[in-house]
Amino acid sequence: IVWTQADGWHDAQVLPYGPIAMDPASSVLHYGQEIFEGMKAYRRADDSIVIFRPEENARRLNESAVRLALPELPVELFVEATKRLVEIDADWVPRGADQSLYLRPFMIADESFLGVRAAQRARFMVIASPAGPYFTGGVKPVSIWLSQDFARAGHGGTGAAKCGGNYAASLLPQNVAAENGCQQVLFTDAGDPDVIDELGGMNLFLVRDDKTLLTPALNGNILPGITRKSLIQLAKDRGYAVEERAVTVTEWREGVANGSIVEAFACGTAAVITPIGQLKSPDFTIDFGDAAPGELTLSLREELTGIQYGTHEDRHSWLTEIPSA
Ligand code: PMP
Repeated sequence: IVWTQADGWHDAQVLPYGPIAMDPASSVLHYGQEIFEGMKAYRRADDSIVIFRPEENARRLNESAVRLALPELPVELFVEATKRLVEIDADWVPRGADQSLYLRPFMIADESFLGVRAAQRARFMVIASPAGPYFTGGVKPVSIWLSQDFARAGHGGTGAAKCGGNYAASLLPQNVAAENGCQQVLFTDAGDPDVIDELGGMNLFLVRDDKTLLTPALNGNILPGITRKSLIQLAKDRGYAVEERAVTVTEWREGVANGSIVEAFACGTAAVITPIGQLKSPDFTIDFGDAAPGELTLSLREELTGIQYGTHEDRHSWLTEIPSA
């Protein structure tokens, strides 16, 4: 679907997957006006297909659009486009645990000019791809690398937007994490290296022994994860307190040492909920106890995936059902 300043959104089409033509002077190629979303369609035991909270992705896309000076897309259009694609690609929604059809809605500026200004033409597209588990080897704790040389986002920057440029900046630190034997990088605040932001593609939670979850607040630097928001709700439903505030590495280390922080996990659409087993940096390595994932981590994972795959009641109406052909 195409947007122009003069005509708004128009020309919605469903096309077979393939390359798209693009002018070399297209503004996205030079100034990076690009935003995207990541979401999944799940096939349930009764063969029905659902998408998880697509309105949340639509709203977040629009927040990203505002920050990147791109046009907003009506929420109904976003939901309609994603539903329609899944309906057409229904045969590609795989069966089984941890299997899904990954959806990648995205928007690019594609007016052709070389001066620096916001484009007056944009395109919104959705592509789909069957996906298995993000980390292979089941629900095993992952190691994360504390990035001290690089920040992902600065104050007043684009950290809260899901734009390609944020990921461009995170690839080198992610490589450094991999060189140090870690699966993910942990970013801290650009101004205070003790304050935790998020992982390369996930939000972070700590579990305290007094039925409390700690997670970095939405401070404008981190992505407002939809899995994060959903887990806060599920935890509150169980009577847990949730503290959304600045969380520090020092607090994490001290809490593990004195036994008050009992679990740590990362969450996101791709990785669902993944326990964190180890935090490494050039200066220290902390092992968070034994190799087994924490009890709450596993039970929240079970509940969230249960809602998505239809074995638990969808009591918050998070699912959008795809009409069967
Ligand atoms: N932070 C970052 C940087 C991410 O890329 C993602 C994945 N979209 C998340 C957090 C988790 O967000 P969500 O739960 O909406 O997938």
